[in-house]
Amino acid sequence: MAYIIGLTGGIASGKTTVSNMLADAGFPIVDADIAARKVVAKNTEGAKLIQAAFGETVFGKDGELDRPKLGEIIFHDSEKRETLNAIVHPLVRRWMLAERDRLIARGHEVIVFDIPLLLESKLEAMVDTIVVVYVDEQTQLARLMQRNDLSEKDAKARISSQMPLSEKIKHADIVINNVHGLAETKQQVDELIRTFSK
Ligand code: ATP
Repeated sequence: MAYIIGLTGGIASGKTTVSNMLADAGFPIVDADIAARKVVAKNTEGAKLIQAAFGETVFGKDGELDRPKLGEIIFHDSEKRETLNAIVHPLVRRWMLAERDRLIARGHEVIVFDIPLLLESKLEAMVDTIVVVYVDEQTQLARLMQRNDLSEKDAKARISSQMPLSEKIKHADIVINNVHGLAETKQQVDELIRTFSK
């Protein structure tokens, strides 16, 4: 049986930064954001289910899902958001588990599941250990504003729509503190790599 590391954190907390370090060290990464796009791509079961629930208007002329349009609909309507989640979440889980099995068949023993909403979506059972990439709220705000070119108000709104990182670390088996420079983060990731390479 393979060992699954669940990598999570908050918006702009440094998950991609850490997952790139793990990928550089040779760990295979299964990314929930990629899964969420793949399972609703043109002509997939997911696209067909969304079409049945939301109609043709949430698709562009090219047959691809119009994400901003769908986003707009679910943003204002919690029932529709639930409907979408009920379609997409099981497909994402299935896609990730199929990826896991494919990697196991290729001989991988340790696999990273990169799942931004691991805790919000209660997916703890999918992983063997939970690694949270942490930054304090001030750093998170500054990095998010800079990376996405957002106003303080917009950046704060995005941060407050998620479970606070101070809460997430309570559920962590391992915390990577990404408040300082990349070198400090790399040291902690190297420690993690040593632990899981044994
Ligand atoms: P999201 O889930 O929102 O895509 P994320 O958790 O994957 O974000 P990253 O994209 O890795 O976060 O990092 C957020 C921003 O902060 C990026 O612009 C990245 O370059 C920068 N950053 C990450 N770690 C550090 C660090 N230790 N020092 C300075 N900047 C950093």
